[in-house]
Amino acid sequence: MGNVHVPTTPAINATTVIANDIGSLSSVDGESLTRDRKDIFDGFYYGSVGTPTSANLIRALVKLERAEFASLTPSCQSAITAVMLALVKPGDHILAVDTATYSTRWFLDRRLSSFGIQIDYYAPSAAEDISRYFRPNTKLVFMESPGSFTYEVQDVAAIASACRSIGAYSVLDNTWAACTFFKPFDHGVDVSVVSLSKNAGGPAGMALGAVFSNRRSIYASIASEIALCGLHVSAHTCASVLSAMSSMGARLEHQQRSAAAIIRFLQAQPEIETVFHPALEDHPGHTLWRAGFSGSNSLISVSFRDVFKQWIPSFLGALQLFGIWIWMGRSGESRQCLPRK
Ligand SMILES: *Cc1c(COP(=O)(O)O)cnc(C)c1O
Repeated sequence: MGNVHVPTTPAINATTVIANDIGSLSSVDGESLTRDRKDIFDGFYYGSVGTPTSANLIRALVKLERAEFASLTPSCQSAITAVMLALVKPGDHILAVDTATYSTRWFLDRRLSSFGIQIDYYAPSAAEDISRYFRPNTKLVFMESPGSFTYEVQDVAAIASACRSIGAYSVLDNTWAACTFFKPFDHGVDVSVVSLSKNAGGPAGMALGAVFSNRRSIYASIASEIALCGLHVSAHTCASVLSAMSSMGARLEHQQRSAAAIIRFLQAQPEIETVFHPALEDHPGHTLWRAGFSGSNSLISVSFRDVFKQWIPSFLGALQLFGIWIWMGRSGESRQCLPRK
């Protein structure tokens, strides 16, 4: 190696993995997926299932999320589907927060419900009283905090504790916090999922998801579900996300400052009715956000006063700085508008 090294992780693109001695051979079963690795080269048997590059990314991510274990998936959507498929079975009941992002609801409503799994939605303001919605077959409670796209903040610790009392799994979509602003395992959750397609890998144009847990048995079920479904990720993607992640802390700092300036501007506009952002004191989730979060990302939503609504399409069409706005209508329809060049 000499006296120098490079601070970047190369993409070790490999499907064939060759053991140097018979003692280093891994068995092809769930155990080898989840065993502790001596180093990033340890324990691989097939490059599709994992590489030293994915192991290096996992190492970085578990430190950020303060978790013991993690697996990678091609997107957060596939992370969520793998978690659900691993932890619930026909006849079980899932409670999901009403403010979960639309793609999570698609999977619950269009797929899981057709597998004989019951799904109910609860209000994001639920805390200990979530137990009112528990049924004898409640197996999993899904949270997303802050929620999409008005950022309701959930009492994660209270819900995780209620889940423990009935032996149900608590699962948090922690994408908003970008593995940075909220540490789910300090609040007692069983599983967190994060979309790395956003703050971590977005600048590299990479889609990727991660599932975290502090409980080995839960992690082992999810890791084997990921393998069963073949939800593997490429070394190239992992190397690009690692590289983009090295600037994430600096980007988030800058984005927080920019968001604060944009919020101040928006609040002064007569067309705007409400600006939604949990760092605002009048936001309903502000107290919980202050207590549990160390910062915020740059997601901002606004609602327009009624008289200005007719102008929204031309407003969106005239934007110069913002590339895509997702516009949520009252009835839930959404449109993406590209600004004029
Ligand atoms: C984008 C997003 C997802 C889906 O992530 P993908 O990586 O695009 O599949 C899930 N949850 C939240 C909160 C998101 O913002």
